[in-house]
Amino acid sequence: FCDIRPSMPLFGMDIGGTLTKLVYFEPANFDEFDLEEKETLQTIHRYLIGNVAYGKSGIRDVHLEMENQTICGRTGKIHFIRFPTSQMLSFIELAKSKNFSGLASGICATGGGAYMFEEIFAKEVLLQLHKYDEMDCLLKGIHYIDRYNPFSECYFFRNPRDTELCKKMPFDFRNPYPYLVVNIGSGVSILAVRSKTDYSRVSGTSLGGGTFLGLCCLLTGCETFEEAIELASQGDSKNIDKLVRDIYGGDYSKFGLAGETVACSFGHMMSKEKRDTSSREDLARATLVTLTNNIGSIARMCAKTEKIERVVFVGNFLRVNEISMKLLAYAMDFWSNGSLKALFLEHEVRNYNLCFLCTVIV
Ligand code: ADP
Repeated sequence: FCDIRPSMPLFGMDIGGTLTKLVYFEPANFDEFDLEEKETLQTIHRYLIGNVAYGKSGIRDVHLEMENQTICGRTGKIHFIRFPTSQMLSFIELAKSKNFSGLASGICATGGGAYMFEEIFAKEVLLQLHKYDEMDCLLKGIHYIDRYNPFSECYFFRNPRDTELCKKMPFDFRNPYPYLVVNIGSGVSILAVRSKTDYSRVSGTSLGGGTFLGLCCLLTGCETFEEAIELASQGDSKNIDKLVRDIYGGDYSKFGLAGETVACSFGHMMSKEKRDTSSREDLARATLVTLTNNIGSIARMCAKTEKIERVVFVGNFLRVNEISMKLLAYAMDFWSNGSLKALFLEHEVRNYNLCFLCTVIV
């Protein structure tokens, strides 16, 4: 599909279980197009770039933009836009009204929604969805972004066990293999990547970012991910979880379990008295910590089985969610006695579908 000069505008879409991620490549020079093409391109362009919010829930993440990229012989800027997949029908209306089909022969798409919405795109927008596998896109996306982001993309937390000294540091990911990818989206997929072409999905769990948001909405009445994270940042999970010290009165030394370790997530909620004094903030924090720790322990087991030491955590669950990133960094380091390293990416990439670039470039 992506030959030397693919038709413009260039889009890639990842239609996930919760969020749709749209990548738009803005060519630096519109003058090389003929008049009619240029007009349609500019209508689409003005709409996308003239706004940072679209409708009620579409957002352009300006801080993620990548300038001076060369894609299929053209130079330009990559923009990152996201909206809830539940709003797909409104997006389809928009694509119709802006005449997306007037120029593009199709849109590269990945994620389950590429299958689910294929027919409606063809019928309503007259656009073909060129489908790519989401795990392939994820890995290509990671490597593209790491290689072409002029600023450091990959990072880790130094001193993850010390809240005072814990510090975000750049990580050189130029020789990445082997590594584990833990993709925390609505659910979780774990991939062992041994080379550019050799990877497998080694595990996964249905307890993921969607579970956190769903449970948090149920327990606290919150409505958005941002609200859930804000509540969690003000809560204390110790009011909800039973710790080792709540059961032993202190440490369980024989097995090196400190009194502070969670013994039973949500264990205090057996007691009516504790339920009556728990706050929405505490419940949000405990939900976040429970889901994060569970993902962390599955990731650790996979790393051990696969004999891999670097674990890259990606996915929109980590968006604006430093609590989980630090918790994962801490858990990887502590429970492996320092042998595992948790890595993160500035673009949280998920599959931000860069396949239209990657088929040519990477
Ligand atoms: P998917 O492709 O399955 O939709 P993502 O990597 O996009 O996966 O991550 C979705 C998860 O990201 C949600 O389940 C939620 O935990 C979190 N999230 C982050 N920002 C938002 C948001 N604005 N709206 C909904 N969920 C969000």
